[in-house]
Amino acid sequence: DATKTSNFLRQIIESDLEKGSYASRRWAGSPGDAAHQAAGAPDPAKIRTRFPPEPNGYLHVGHAKSICINFGLARDYGGVCHLRFDDTNPEKEDTEYVNSIVESVKWLGFDWSQPGNDKPYQASDYFDFMYRAAEYLIEAGYAYVDEQTAEQMRLSRGDFGKPGVDSPFRSRTPAENLTRFREMQGGQHEDGSMVLRAKIDMASANINLRDPAIYRIRRATHHHTGDKWCIYPMYTFAHPIEDALEQITHSLCTLEFEDQRPFYNWLLERLIEGKLLSAPPPRQYEFARLNLTYVITSKRKLAQLVYDHKVNGWDDPRMPTIVGLRRRGYTPAAIQTFAERIGVTKSDSWIDYSTLEGCLREDLELKAHRGMAVLNPVKLVLTNWDDVMGAGHLEPCSLPALPHAPHGASSGAAPEGVESPVRHFTIGKEVWIEREDFEEVPPKGYKRLFPSNKVRLKGGYVIECTGCTKDANGHITEVLATVVPGTKSGTPGADSVKVKAAITWVGVADGVEAEVRIYDRLFLDAQPDAGGKDFIESLNPNSLKVVTAIVEPSLANAKPDDKFQFERHGYFVADRVDHVQGSKPVFNLAVGLKDSWGK
Ligand code: ATP
Ligand code: MG
Ligand code: MG
Repeated sequence: DATKTSNFLRQIIESDLEKGSYASRRWAGSPGDAAHQAAGAPDPAKIRTRFPPEPNGYLHVGHAKSICINFGLARDYGGVCHLRFDDTNPEKEDTEYVNSIVESVKWLGFDWSQPGNDKPYQASDYFDFMYRAAEYLIEAGYAYVDEQTAEQMRLSRGDFGKPGVDSPFRSRTPAENLTRFREMQGGQHEDGSMVLRAKIDMASANINLRDPAIYRIRRATHHHTGDKWCIYPMYTFAHPIEDALEQITHSLCTLEFEDQRPFYNWLLERLIEGKLLSAPPPRQYEFARLNLTYVITSKRKLAQLVYDHKVNGWDDPRMPTIVGLRRRGYTPAAIQTFAERIGVTKSDSWIDYSTLEGCLREDLELKAHRGMAVLNPVKLVLTNWDDVMGAGHLEPCSLPALPHAPHGASSGAAPEGVESPVRHFTIGKEVWIEREDFEEVPPKGYKRLFPSNKVRLKGGYVIECTGCTKDANGHITEVLATVVPGTKSGTPGADSVKVKAAITWVGVADGVEAEVRIYDRLFLDAQPDAGGKDFIESLNPNSLKVVTAIVEPSLANAKPDDKFQFERHGYFVADRVDHVQGSKPVFNLAVGLKDSWGK
């Protein structure tokens, strides 16, 4: 795809496609799942990638990068991307997470289904195969059961520059190991009393090759396999096998797995040697993880925020989870643009949060309907209204919902073929305006309401300010003005009186009270958890401010999830959980109109 910026992953894939690196492949299906076998034999020249989350939490913006990379590459090169649950760690996993991950990936706009198969893959489907693979390694002399304590194993593993020491159990015969391993599997040993280790090299410079554990005893109920197993494969053993069984070609992961690559290759070479798998094996490539300023991307730490009630759940609009971003008003298009824009590199760096916000603004600019909302209301009374317009008269007004579209006030960058819908509202004797739009004594350069100044009520009339009323404490209770008849927007007299400013407003007669949640960054520190800092300490005490606003009827009639530009204020979304169309509007600030970060 020529419109996409090239990167090292694209270069690797293009070269593999050109060389036909995977042309000899024959789709074998995945053991333990007939549905996948029935999926047939896809074009062997295709690439296959995968997104392999562990279902132990909700996906976050970092995962979104990985999803966009894996699914995006498969899409761009005519390949397939698998959604696979890496569910080898039963205690921490749950179907609640499985379901939310499925929903998040779909919502982002990606599809893993293939003809006859719309189920995501799951590592636990391969437990039988993994067990056979372990027995094979034992028989071939590549694995042994170690009965040292965890502490003994840790000490004997050595350190950088200090070779490890062989376990006394390392020289057991394959027959002895096989008996022990079968006892482990049969439930004859305590949790933690022994592990199966690969037999590689206790002096390797790469500590990951110093006989890593590959199976452990853990009496835990698995959300998928129940109590069938009391031993579970370690992630480092399971993952390469999952990739190979699914005939993944390019296994893309974050840089912290670079040191695991030699083991990944070692294991697959052994299993190909033993004819349990066929060549060519998948290859692992690492890219830089996403680090976003003012954001934490660690499921464990995000879970802490949820369980300690620092936020209101995984989908709190301040959370960088995909469900949180969605509730905040982010769109799949904005997140995909973001992933494309930050690119794929091989070295870690920090991305500025404003980059993400810019992508949302770009997406909403031409799509979000405009509306007027008064966030800090004070009443404006048009004292001559009854005389010049008629007592109790309500004058209908309208404005385009999409002013950039044809028929709108301005033209230009309009989406092709979009005709702007029209918003209807009324003006009467009393309207709500922003408190900041009136100054009794105007500061220099102030162009809005002050005694004897004229402004336009946007989409309504020109008015002239005459003063204000105050309570006993000197607090302004009402702003007073007179309407200038014949100046209604859209009528021939609209330009008869020149003004320097137009202000937003909502009629008292048809305005609706709305709860508006103004969000700010969740952390005050740009790198809240860098260098082992306690991120709880940098929580922003003012990350949520709730105000009662008055909104025009078109906003009150929004459906949950509808996005708007509140004129002069920013982009807002009708909350998908709490907003009730018509009767109880609730809006979340998605992003301001301008970049205000770092200021
Ligand atoms: P966490 O550390 O938040 O628990 P994880 O890496 O353990 O995340 P997994 O469920 O194992 O979570 O992740 C699935 C995939 O998402 C992995 O391939 C992982 O590399 C990738 N991923 C996780 N975090 C990021 C990130 N910040 N940037 C890019 N990719 C990420
Ligand atoms: Mg993980
Ligand atoms: Mg992790």
